[in-house]
Amino acid sequence: MNIEQVYKDANALLDGHFLLASGNHSSRYLQSAKVLEYPKKAALLTDALATMIKESGIKVDTVCAPALGGVLAGYELARSLDVRSIFVEKKEGGMELRRGFEIAKGEKIIICEDIITTGGSALKAARAIEELGGEVVAFASLANRGFCKRVGGNDMAKKECALPENTPLFALDDFTFEMYTPEDCPLCKVGKSKAVKPGSKS
Ligand code: ZN
Repeated sequence: MNIEQVYKDANALLDGHFLLASGNHSSRYLQSAKVLEYPKKAALLTDALATMIKESGIKVDTVCAPALGGVLAGYELARSLDVRSIFVEKKEGGMELRRGFEIAKGEKIIICEDIITTGGSALKAARAIEELGGEVVAFASLANRGFCKRVGGNDMAKKECALPENTPLFALDDFTFEMYTPEDCPLCKVGKSKAVKPGSKS
């Protein structure tokens, strides 16, 4: 499966002039939610991810996603792995388990995101799980923005990666884009367009 093509076909991989949450500019943007619009396509992606996880021999009891971004990917991955699906939600400074979800001591949990950029939310989810006695055995994501090293990937982890080195990250593909400060942005220099915010708020 050509993952980049799947994203392009779903209009989830955008070309243009984008203002990222970090304040940097980029000519490409991953609108991750778009690739999950059609459940049957989403299932193909999580089936591929589940195959990678199963082949590694890692045992998983439960998939936990950081809400909101990871919930759909996490749910579909749980279906592909035939395990339980839960999610954690934002609280001041971290994430927490709500809604009556429980985890058993030593329960083996995989933290699933739709996209791992630096892995900040995934790490907060992992901390919440560990505080409750769960064991985070791996991280998983459909797309990896190239800051963290994924199993089978060529890129090394960059200093921005927040995920622990000794826990594997499974992802379908790396999407490494150039980013520029507004002062150095070649698209701004050309002057034909203004950077637009493509994220969840628009
Ligand atoms: Zn720009």
